[in-house]
Amino acid sequence: MKQLSLTAALTFICCAAAAAADRPAGLAFSQLSARVKAEVPAAPTPEQGVDLSAIEDLKNDARYWVTAAADDKYDRTGLLNAGLDIVEIEERAVSGFIAGPEMDQLAQKGFIVKSRQPIYDYAKKHLKDFPAADGVYHNYAETAEQLQQLAAANPAETSLLSIGKSLEGRDVWCLRVNPAEKGETPSARPAALFMGNHHAREHLTNEVALGLATYLMAHKTEPEIRGYLDTLDIYIAPMTNPDGAEYDIQTGKYRWHRKNTRVNSDKSIGVDLNRNYDSLWCKAGASHSPGSDTYCGPYAFSEPETLNIKKFVETHKNLKTLMSYHSYSSLVLYPWAGKDVPVESARDRKVFESMGKAMASFTGYKPEQSSDLYVATGDTTDWAYATSGIFAFTTELEGSSFYPGAAAIAKAVANNVKAAVYMLGVTGDPYELAR
Ligand SMILES: [Zn+2]
Repeated sequence: MKQLSLTAALTFICCAAAAAADRPAGLAFSQLSARVKAEVPAAPTPEQGVDLSAIEDLKNDARYWVTAAADDKYDRTGLLNAGLDIVEIEERAVSGFIAGPEMDQLAQKGFIVKSRQPIYDYAKKHLKDFPAADGVYHNYAETAEQLQQLAAANPAETSLLSIGKSLEGRDVWCLRVNPAEKGETPSARPAALFMGNHHAREHLTNEVALGLATYLMAHKTEPEIRGYLDTLDIYIAPMTNPDGAEYDIQTGKYRWHRKNTRVNSDKSIGVDLNRNYDSLWCKAGASHSPGSDTYCGPYAFSEPETLNIKKFVETHKNLKTLMSYHSYSSLVLYPWAGKDVPVESARDRKVFESMGKAMASFTGYKPEQSSDLYVATGDTTDWAYATSGIFAFTTELEGSSFYPGAAAIAKAVANNVKAAVYMLGVTGDPYELAR
């Protein structure tokens, strides 16, 4: 996609008269009208879960977003002259904004309109979402839809449950993979929990968790995967901070937002969910200052998003392993995060170290005790291990940006799925690694 500069636009405008004169007569108006009608697709359906108040004014805006056929610079010049504000150029077409009355005249002037939509519909679809180049990433509605599709396509193996609501009332969806038990029904099987997107701007983590769910279902008949399906209770919650993830993208520009969307006492936005767990809460590597990106909140578990996880862990005593995906640093981290000492139990330490090393071998990341990086209290893994003895890990995915682009997804998913499948392999009895 190319952006047309103002200079280029002016160049085209100056040549428009000559271009119009050279234009072939084209189809009769009646033929064009029929063709235009046939080629105009239905208006897009509104996206779910999107706050539309920021574009409310566009409802009264008479402009349209139009895509019109344009083979060359002469066509493009003619369209500019006809009032189209060209924004995007493809090989055989251009797209841009145009006022209603001028749009109505395009066909009469011999142009073929391939699609059109009111600017409000266009903004609804494009303005409040991932920037176009990252459109392959899943926003909240798309994540929910993907999980629903997986559950619908695999009713014998899966069920979809909400583990609670976010601050703004979004369901935090979790795919359960267990052919024997569905929904909230307890299971005696050893359980594994995979989570993504504690931090809003770490969108690749949502993709990795979704990718894992998709992989397990695509390979459910293979002996190894089938073995895990038939013996384990597997949970995958790709977007644990849906408000933050949406807030980060809803202007169509990234906000680099890390926290949830709590409006704090000083009007700053967000609590750092990975500093809000009740494990040496806010003692180190976290801030009491609401405006800080590592703000721990007014008290431990002050946020619905962390309370959801607390409740889930406390009601699933069968959990043996946990993976919380973050990005980015290419690390596999294990407790302690909040104490600058190794896990006290030599047996547990051996399990953590063996698992960390093995998972890192699949991803090429570095296995490390969290506090070797820096001491930070109140994170998921310390709390899950300290209170429930769960072998809990943080994976910091690869890359050098919170927004590594669409091309980063496939490799991150492929490598981390291997590590996740390894984790399933030891979930049955993690202590085997210490024998
Ligand atoms: Zn993170």
